Amino acid sequence: MGASETVGKVISKGDIVVYESTVYPGVTEEKCLPVVERVSGLKFNVDFYAGYSPERINPGDKENTVEKIKKVTSGSTPEIADIVDNLYKEIILMNIYITLDYELFLGPKTGSVDKCLIEPTYNLCKVVSKHGSKMVFFIDVLYLIKLREYSSDDIRLREDYNKIIKQLKFLNNEGHDLQLHIHPQWNYSTYDKFKREWKLDFIHYSVSDCPFDDVKKMFVEGCNFIYDIIGKYPTVYRAGGYSFMNESNFVDFLVSIGITNDSSVLMREKSCTKFQKYDYSSIKDFSAYKFSNDITKPVQSGCMTEYPITTINMIHVVRSIVNRFIKHKYGNRVLKKGDGYGVGYLNRNKSNVSLFKKINQRASIDLTNGFWLNYIYNKIKKRGDLMLIIGHPKNFTDYSFIALGKFLDTISKDDKIKTFK
Ligand SMILES: [Zn+2]
Repeated sequence: MGASETVGKVISKGDIVVYESTVYPGVTEEKCLPVVERVSGLKFNVDFYAGYSPERINPGDKENTVEKIKKVTSGSTPEIADIVDNLYKEIILMNIYITLDYELFLGPKTGSVDKCLIEPTYNLCKVVSKHGSKMVFFIDVLYLIKLREYSSDDIRLREDYNKIIKQLKFLNNEGHDLQLHIHPQWNYSTYDKFKREWKLDFIHYSVSDCPFDDVKKMFVEGCNFIYDIIGKYPTVYRAGGYSFMNESNFVDFLVSIGITNDSSVLMREKSCTKFQKYDYSSIKDFSAYKFSNDITKPVQSGCMTEYPITTINMIHVVRSIVNRFIKHKYGNRVLKKGDGYGVGYLNRNKSNVSLFKKINQRASIDLTNGFWLNYIYNKIKKRGDLMLIIGHPKNFTDYSFIALGKFLDTISKDDKIKTFK
């Protein structure tokens, strides 16, 4: 009330009063606005307007500043609602993460180190360094440990291994963030020296397929491997195939080795195949959250923080049409450069997906997905503060770099491209 009197004294024609409090908009209209009208002599919705933003910011609270609090806004007229909405959209900063899974194909043809890792990653760095942005690389460490093991008596593998280590050191020196990615099948795989190809194990495709003691050993070795290259232990994990382990002590174990963040959750998605098992259909908020044992249950006192990979709803036919358009416009610049294929290639279900079926479009730079980055950014900006982009160098096309460059050119200067460092 006192605030309304103060406002009444300073308000002038055409102003918008924004009420940031937990009181119901009705209370504002009935009690507060008449005070403003009386003190100012101006008429509500003629001379001045009101906006509401019910999630209150505690003045002086340094933790929950206006940028961090998600706002639900409205206005006394639809036009004013839009103005207030845009105002808050500008204030709320987005935390954008560009994350890459640094790995070969995990299927019958793993592809070459040059085409799947070295070349696309250097090309990516060229685009991103123009904007001074830093990225997060989830390193498929068990592959590298296996590669090191076989490279002792194979000169080609040794060359591959040295190239990769050199690139990882380069990424670290450039300020990028190197974190832990685990595809456990590497632990059980072998290399055929005569055919010069990896024989991947498909029984242990996700960590849940492995004995917990094996899993612990893989994680410890993986963390040590990263430490040996960059002198720092990883603090963030991403599960191979997005399949977080269903084992009650798993989270405690991760925390015990210093992993307190995770980025395995693919928002809204669910998969139940021989290889990938997860159900993240309940995760729909564009923000990070804490959890303790169950990765799909946000708990405020949780010991781990989840940074889910952003997806938005879309109608299947819209994406199909756009894909055709991109292919037509960009020709062979939409062709994948990586020379392998994964298990999805064999497993692909070509059944007729209804044109009007809702699908989840990821924030991704693989293949032609980068087209949607700006659209996703604008769509989620007022609904949350996290946009987490995923990419796989093995799935990059020339178009990936065009789309990412465009996105980095257009986002607001105040938004932050972040890493976990
Ligand atoms: Zn992976």
